[in-house]
Amino acid sequence: MKQALTTRTVCVGGSVLIGSGHPIVVQTMCNTRTADVESTVAQCRRLSDAGAQLIRITVPSLSDVQALERIHATLRSEGIQVPLVADIHFSAEIAMAVVPVVEKIRINPGNFHPRHEKARELFRELLERCKRYDRAIRIGLNHGSLGAYIVERYGNTPQAMALAAMEWVQMCLDAQFYNVVVSLKASNTVVMVQAYRELARLMQEAGTVFPLHVGVTEAGNGDSGRIKSAVAISTLLAEGIGNTIRVSLTEDPANELPVAQYLAGRYGMPGQAGHDEGLSEHELSILKAACDWGAPLLNHEVDDVPLEDEYLKNELLQACRRKFYKPEYIACPGCGRTLYNLEETFNRVKEATGHFKGVVIAVMGCIVNGPGEMADADYGYVGEGHGQVTLYRKKEPVLRHIPEDEAVEQLVKLIEEDAGLTQT
Ligand code: SF4
Repeated sequence: MKQALTTRTVCVGGSVLIGSGHPIVVQTMCNTRTADVESTVAQCRRLSDAGAQLIRITVPSLSDVQALERIHATLRSEGIQVPLVADIHFSAEIAMAVVPVVEKIRINPGNFHPRHEKARELFRELLERCKRYDRAIRIGLNHGSLGAYIVERYGNTPQAMALAAMEWVQMCLDAQFYNVVVSLKASNTVVMVQAYRELARLMQEAGTVFPLHVGVTEAGNGDSGRIKSAVAISTLLAEGIGNTIRVSLTEDPANELPVAQYLAGRYGMPGQAGHDEGLSEHELSILKAACDWGAPLLNHEVDDVPLEDEYLKNELLQACRRKFYKPEYIACPGCGRTLYNLEETFNRVKEATGHFKGVVIAVMGCIVNGPGEMADADYGYVGEGHGQVTLYRKKEPVLRHIPEDEAVEQLVKLIEEDAGLTQT
C-alpha cells in the first residue's frame, strides 16, 4: 500500500476533518423526500447511529431549503451532530440559499448556467458566501454530466473530467478558499479510477491537493453493486488516493455504511477503526475478494483470478470490465428526487433483462439528472414521476409517459426489437 497523498485538511462543521493525516471519513445520502421532514430526520437518525460521519440530502427546489433548515434544527435539538451536506444540481440560487443552513454544499459548478462565464461568476459568488459562513464545498463532477464546453474540447474521457475539475479547483485557489473536497465519479470503474489518478496528478502539479471524495456512481445493488464499488475504491485507496468515501447502493442507505466502513478500515490510517460488523459472511468474502483482485484486474496485471467460485470470479471480471457475462446495469442510489420505488423496479428490470448479455441498461430515479448521469448506457429506464416512465435508447428518449406497470415489458420489447429478436 502506498503512502497517502498529502492533501490539505478540510473541516466540516468544526467536527469532521477530511484529508491526509486523518482517518477516512464514511458518508452516505438520504433517499427520503426532503420535504418530508419527519421521514428524513428519522433516516438521518438511523444513518448517524449506523456510523455515517456525513449525511447528504438533496435540495431540489428553493422550497426545500426551509425543510432542510427544520431537519438540521431537529437533529441538533436531539443532540445528533453529524454534519449535513446539501446536494445541489443546476441551481446557483439554491446553492446560495443553503449556505447558512448546512455545513457543506455539493455542487457541479459547470451546470450553474449554460453560459460558461456566467457559471464562473456564480461560482465565485458562492465561494465568497461559503467563506463568510465558514462552510465546506464539494466540487462533484460525474462522467456523463460534464459541461458541453469540456466535451467539445476534450471528449467524454477521464482526462476531460480531471481537467474540468481543475478549472474550479484553480478558481478556489484564486479566491483563497481552501475548504474544498473534489470528486469525479463514474459508474464505469476503469473511467473512475483513471479520472481520480489524473486529478491527483494535476493537483500535485498545481502545488495544492484538495482531499478527494471517492466513489463509484450508479453502482447498482446486491453483490454487483458492492463488488463494483469495492474494486474501484480499494484500488485508489491502496494508492493513497481518497479521503472520504461513499459506497452508492440502490438499497436502504444504511446498507452502504458497513461496506464503506470495511474499506475505510482496511485502507485507512494505521489504527483506524475498521470492522467487519454489520457484514454477513457472504458480504465479507466478496468484499475481501474485490479488494484482493480489483487492482490487479483493473491494472491488467492479471487476466483471470484463481477462484473456484465461478459466480464470484465472473462478478469480479465484470466489475473490472474484463469480461461481460451478463448485462451491465447502471442504477442510481435514489435520493429525495426519486418519485417511485427504485429498488423494487430495478430488481424487476434485472429479472426481466438478465439474458441480454453485454447490453448496458440504466435505471434512474429522476428525469432531471437521470438522462445525463446514465452516461454510456444502451438503454435507460427513467422515472418521470406521477407513475410514468420514459425509455431511452442511448441518450434519446424513444418512449415517453409509459405507465409504470407497462414499462419493464416495453423496455424488454425495445431491446428485443433492436436485436432483431421479434417482429415489429
Ligand atoms: S439520478 Fe437518482 S440519485 Fe441522481 S438526482 Fe436523480 S434520483 Fe437522485
